Amino acid sequence: MNTPQVRPNLYGMGLQELGAVFEALGEKSYRARQATTSMYRQDLLDPAAWTTFSARLRRDIADRYRVERPRISERQLSDDSSVKVVLTLADGQRVEAVAMPTDERMTFCISSQAGCAFGCAFCMTAKLGFLRHLSAGEIVGQVAALMEETGTAHERYNIVFMGMGEPLHNLENVLGALRLLLNKLAFGLGPKRLTVSTVGIPEGIDRLGQEEPRPRLAVSIVSADQATREELMPSAKTFKLDAIADAMRRYGARQRDLPTIEAVMLKGINDRRHHAEALAKFALRAGAKVNLIEFNPTPELPFEPSGEDAIRHTLRILVKAGVGGTVRRSRGKDIAGACGQLALKTP
Ligand code: SAH
Repeated sequence: MNTPQVRPNLYGMGLQELGAVFEALGEKSYRARQATTSMYRQDLLDPAAWTTFSARLRRDIADRYRVERPRISERQLSDDSSVKVVLTLADGQRVEAVAMPTDERMTFCISSQAGCAFGCAFCMTAKLGFLRHLSAGEIVGQVAALMEETGTAHERYNIVFMGMGEPLHNLENVLGALRLLLNKLAFGLGPKRLTVSTVGIPEGIDRLGQEEPRPRLAVSIVSADQATREELMPSAKTFKLDAIADAMRRYGARQRDLPTIEAVMLKGINDRRHHAEALAKFALRAGAKVNLIEFNPTPELPFEPSGEDAIRHTLRILVKAGVGGTVRRSRGKDIAGACGQLALKTP
């Protein structure tokens, strides 16, 4: 019987894994570096176009392997010129990613998982539940697809892991993706252009801190009051604020940029004076700065955004305590492409 064989996908493989592929084909290991450049630097998804290879080697590769990355299957343009895309993966699973241009720079917001297991009360992705992890190729493939979609050149964009999923819950694949993004033969992004955002998993933060180079770190603290945080984020019961603060401090000690504390601002929930004071204290302990995020409301969630006054008041308390504070304004809200809105629904 002729069983159909799924050819392994070269897209997403790290240099070592690719080295083994070429060794098995009787080739030298520098071929792995050439293939890396063809796939990520040049986005050539057909090995027939890898002209640094002989015709025979190109045919051998095409016979035995696939070179496939996610493709954009839907796109929506926001009034503020953000673009939200849906990518359809090889098994039909869909994930979302967002490109946000401003005058000075382009930012890509990418997903690390389909759905999310963490159940934060204020986030729409949580409503999907956990669907599956994304592979390294499915993660970096979102970047390649957004570069193509928006006509953005290498090293002209920033990346935030703030789409669907919890990056530190899919650590091995996220590390594989980060290495490709930071490798000069692949995407060649400077480490300052990359930010990993997490619900706050101390062990994962420590593991990420061992990478060299390592990305910027952002942690969704939301509230530095343990009881309030537990009500909003189930993971807070397992990963306590004290342990997160210590892990952030260790992370920050190894690099020049301060880690960021993210706090989505919920009216009457985490925007009072004592919340701001707790946040300031936490930030000093963690050695971090604070980014207050405008909450993006939807009828399905029982929260309202904090008023401008409450946000400004919180900022004032932070600054008075000697903590750096900024506000992240919403982008792509009209297309459900803003923080916490990625749930594979059209508005
Ligand atoms: N799991 C990671 C990354 C995804 S969430 C994390 O928790 O950080 C990215 C950011 O969006 C987080 O800071 C999160 O707190 C914020 N966020 C979630 N839902 C939101 C909403 N409805 N409005 C505004 N920000 C939201």
